[in-house]
Amino acid sequence: MSLSYSQLRRYRTCPRQYEFSHIKKIPWGISEGESFGASVHNALKRWGELEIGHRALGVGRRKQKNEGVREDQIRLFVEEEHPKPQELTAEKLMEIWHQTFVFDTYPSRFEADFARSRGEALMRRFFTWWSLRLRSGQAAPLVLAVEKGFSIEIDGVHITGRLDRVEQTAEGVRIIDYKTTPPCTQAEADADLQISLYALAAAQLFDKPCTELLLLFLSDEGVVERATARSASQLKDARTQITLIRERMEAKDFHPTPSVTACKRCPYRGVCDVAAV
Ligand code: SF4
Repeated sequence: MSLSYSQLRRYRTCPRQYEFSHIKKIPWGISEGESFGASVHNALKRWGELEIGHRALGVGRRKQKNEGVREDQIRLFVEEEHPKPQELTAEKLMEIWHQTFVFDTYPSRFEADFARSRGEALMRRFFTWWSLRLRSGQAAPLVLAVEKGFSIEIDGVHITGRLDRVEQTAEGVRIIDYKTTPPCTQAEADADLQISLYALAAAQLFDKPCTELLLLFLSDEGVVERATARSASQLKDARTQITLIRERMEAKDFHPTPSVTACKRCPYRGVCDVAAV
């Protein structure tokens, strides 16, 4: 069995929603919130790639000094592996935002412009957060990867997903997951199955321990961090949860679990006879 994390999340939200989308394959339109979140992720992916590009150029320059590598050779290396290095400024991030923002999914120009302005504010907040980390007196975070794809196998279930941003720390790696939803509580972050799967994926992808998992909420109220970690027993519990979900899916358990929270965001609320809205 193969599942993306979004399929898994849909099943956990409501098994009937999963059945509608992935078994009966009833098409659903992307919501404005999903579209906005995708635009933000794309902008921050490009930003992370620029950071990696800067680092590659820095490494190249050091090589040039020590090993006689020519500037044109460095540029060739950087441009092949990463985007062309550019200044990491607030203006550059805003330019990226305007390039990556997707208009099509909004019902009117007015709503699209509103979302684009909201994104500008979020990008400014992200840039302030990012700049403060550089000035915090600690070593600048070293970005190892952005949008790093993974596939992990748990009890016969292949789960695929992406890590938004991976940074090197003194002791291992830090995984950062961007969110455009309202911040969750610390207790919710500590129990989040998605984060446990990221910890399992990081252990498989990197030869360093995953020392920190950071949920970074980019909300209208500001940037909110929820740092968490996973113990061996929590990872074991995550594996058990996946096994239980697999057993229920194989038994075709698609009983709906309506709730106001789930149903108001569900793309099938118009066709579902037990919708709670
Ligand atoms: S409307 Fe509610 S109960 Fe029906 S599929 Fe969607 S989430 Fe489930």
